[in-house]
Amino acid sequence: MASAVPRVPRVAIYARQSVDEDQGIAQQLEDCRTEVHRRGWRVVAEHQDNDTSASKERGPKTAWSAMLKAFDAGEFDTVIVTETSRITRSLIDVLDIRPPQRDIRVVVIREGIDTELDDFMLKQLVLLAEREVRIKTERAARYAVGRRLAGHPTPGKPPHGYGWVPSIERDAAGTRYRVDEAEAEDVRRIFREFLAGAPLAQIARDLGDAGSLTRRGVRWHSSTVRRVLLNPLYAALLPPAQPTGHFDATAIDLDACTPGAWEAIIERDQLVASRGRLIGVRANHSGTARKWLLSGLAVCAICSHPVRSASGETHPTARKAGGGAAPSRRYHAYRCPKGHFMRNGDIIDQYVSNICVARLSQEDAIDLITPRSDSIDIAVLNSTREALKGRRQSIASFVARGLMTDIEADGSLMEISRELQAISDQIALAVREDPFAELAVVDDVEAWWDSATLARRRLIVDGLMVVRIKPVGHGRRVTTSDAAAASVDVEWRRG
Ligand SMILES: [Zn+2]
Repeated sequence: MASAVPRVPRVAIYARQSVDEDQGIAQQLEDCRTEVHRRGWRVVAEHQDNDTSASKERGPKTAWSAMLKAFDAGEFDTVIVTETSRITRSLIDVLDIRPPQRDIRVVVIREGIDTELDDFMLKQLVLLAEREVRIKTERAARYAVGRRLAGHPTPGKPPHGYGWVPSIERDAAGTRYRVDEAEAEDVRRIFREFLAGAPLAQIARDLGDAGSLTRRGVRWHSSTVRRVLLNPLYAALLPPAQPTGHFDATAIDLDACTPGAWEAIIERDQLVASRGRLIGVRANHSGTARKWLLSGLAVCAICSHPVRSASGETHPTARKAGGGAAPSRRYHAYRCPKGHFMRNGDIIDQYVSNICVARLSQEDAIDLITPRSDSIDIAVLNSTREALKGRRQSIASFVARGLMTDIEADGSLMEISRELQAISDQIALAVREDPFAELAVVDDVEAWWDSATLARRRLIVDGLMVVRIKPVGHGRRVTTSDAAAASVDVEWRRG
């Protein structure tokens, strides 16, 4: 809203000295002060950047950025400069001060510009600057794609085992990672020990006893050892980009990795085997897939019918101070098919999960595993499956390069497909035979549980216990684990 009484602009003077211009900062300040005085305005601050100094400041330490902060704090509303070039060391600087980012009134003495009266000129500059930013962004994106195709990792700290090669020291291939022999030995040892069956905590202790520290200079811990065992970079595999801030090593699909342009420290098979042991075979259950942990598994404590999942709906009461009721929300629930109850399912799932993790973390959890006649090794099966996939890949490239005809390829592909199917069946069988088998080599049960598929968790629950859900009083809400414990009975099947 425009004020009835015109306000006297509060002015910030901005001066910049750059190499190729002769008008000194003192002169600029003087000219600006005179102009402000002539207009009857008020100077509230003077900012000056000296770009001729050896270390050209950029970013937060500049007077420019201090000035932007002062504007954001409401200390002034108008900036005055002697020429447009003073506010645009780089063209994109203009984006800092004009809409949409900020609306600072700009007065340029020499060019007679005042954005309050006519901002055509500044608008043109803003458009040009936006275009420049767009071009730079596209160029950077193209560079990132090109770098990835060439198998080069994102700049940053390489993992333990590698050193970063600065651009001036790179070879013709532009290799970024250089093997650090001492650290690489730690990595090889971690994989060797783990695949031989050593628990994560033991591996961490042994490394510490041998005097090895992590990159951060601290002792190894189960979690840092686990991170090594999951990391595709050690097999020279470049994982696809993940959303910023959501990195999840367990979610990486090895088939989607690009071959890295650096030396591997471990074999791909070792990586596949260790990932298989840590996060399990991610079976693709379809068809009768269940959405919730306990539907069809838990039973009603009164009639023993398996519970079904249902969708509850909250019915908020109207608020006193107007506005009506809050919108109702749907939630995940379990109900007895005979109508004995319908209860919020999240807290029950959480309670049962906690019990499972606690039970599986106990010293004697290994006793839960039924010894099997044939010892099917899931890790080995997994490696075989990966190798078959690799063969399928190379056949495709033979055909693409004209080294193999379609007919020749067809025969081989069918054979591979049959073998793959057989392997998958064996894995499925091994898992169905005893869902606990894999746990024999899992050290961090909680992490395993969190990354296991729902189908796997259901198998574990089913193998461990019978869950009986009791009705709770109408309108009573169970919100804590303790309250859930009182309203859910667990009967152990094993152990
Ligand atoms: Zn019932």
